[in-house]
Amino acid sequence: MRVAIVGMGFGALSAAHAAEREGIEVVQIGPRHFEYLPSLAKVLSGRRKPEELRVEPKLRWDHVEGLVDKVEDQGDSVRLRLSTGEVLDADYAVLAPGAEPWVPVRGVNPLYRVSHAEAVKRALDKAGRDARIAIVGTGLVGLEAAGELAWTREAGLSSYKVFLLEAAPVLSPTLPCERVREVIPERLRRHGIAYFLNSLVSEIRDNKIITKDGRTFEADVVIWAAGVQGPNIDIPCAEKGKRGFIMVDSYLRAKGCRRVYVVGDASSDSSLKMAEEALRHGWYVIKHLLGKKREPYKPFLTRERPFCFIALGPRDGISIMRRVVITGRLAPMVKELLERIMIKWARDAKMRPPVPI
Ligand SMILES: Cc1cc2nc3c(=O)[nH]c(=O)nc-3n(C[C@H](O)[C@H](O)[C@H](O)COP(=O)(O)OP(=O)(O)OC[C@H]3O[C@@H](n4cnc5c(N)ncnc54)[C@H](O)[C@@H]3O)c2cc1C
Repeated sequence: MRVAIVGMGFGALSAAHAAEREGIEVVQIGPRHFEYLPSLAKVLSGRRKPEELRVEPKLRWDHVEGLVDKVEDQGDSVRLRLSTGEVLDADYAVLAPGAEPWVPVRGVNPLYRVSHAEAVKRALDKAGRDARIAIVGTGLVGLEAAGELAWTREAGLSSYKVFLLEAAPVLSPTLPCERVREVIPERLRRHGIAYFLNSLVSEIRDNKIITKDGRTFEADVVIWAAGVQGPNIDIPCAEKGKRGFIMVDSYLRAKGCRRVYVVGDASSDSSLKMAEEALRHGWYVIKHLLGKKREPYKPFLTRERPFCFIALGPRDGISIMRRVVITGRLAPMVKELLERIMIKWARDAKMRPPVPI
């Protein structure tokens, strides 16, 4: 049996390692480097160099460097078309291309991949140490970027003025757990981070951010952390849901396809879009296609059962463990440890789920 695995992130590397252990032939299609996204904010402050978050896994299976444009389920096999024109056939396809930043406004800097963090860092360096920095979106990515940049001021490395813009009437509406929203305002005040609610950004003009209701904010750098969308891959047999995420059944198969599985952030599965869940997805689908797992996929991280660590620089953060919310050093400490473990697993191409599937 030959499985084509698309991507080089958590989901793809976990599926590929599971397939290797099962003795299945693997061809992995994706970029050469794995990117450790949970530490992107550290690139903005200079605590990490981009190359520290971009590692080349030592793969023990076939790898084709490139991007997949189209996946066709042919009944008894799958056919994958690459952007180079190359065509590959396999018995099954596991798609783990992650998500893409959703950016409906021009003139902003998205923050989703290492290349984005590098571009933001260049913009910050150009704007100078007194830069006014607007961050659009108060989810995990926006909060971490704000916390990290505020820390550079606390450490005497900058005099940045950092503020957050949120379209909703509440802070961090997409974060799981109600209690977290009670602690965020105090955390932001403590770090001198201003925030403005009901601020739907509609346009950027001459260093001015204009909201839908006509208010303006001046900023030298605008970081966009206001949402993601599904991957741009044509899968004729599949259904796409809201913002282009690929709909899956309870076994993580693309709805409408028989031989195409979708794992990690690209899928519309109800679990939270987090690294740990992508690792579990990848492992599960290999067991499922071999018939070794027959029960539906059980998400570990859900809105009702979240585990999430938000670092606000190296000394503070918010840890959400089910219904318990703890502020302080725990979150950056846990994230530091996970970074070390996950980057080692990625380098060794031995990604696996940290909790059973
Ligand atoms: C700033 C930030 C902070 C985060 N913090 C945390 C955190 O603290 N904890 C946590 O658990 N999660 C966190 N996440 C989320 C976590 O990083 C994602 O859930 C995880 O990366 C999803 O894994 P994935 O394998 O689905 O996708 P990704 O890791 O995004 O990997 C997708 C891979 O597919 C490749 N690819 C894309 N398109 C194609 C194509 N057409 N053909 C071939 N390859 C393709 C990409 O280049 C990439 O290699 C964070 C994310 C961001 C952006």
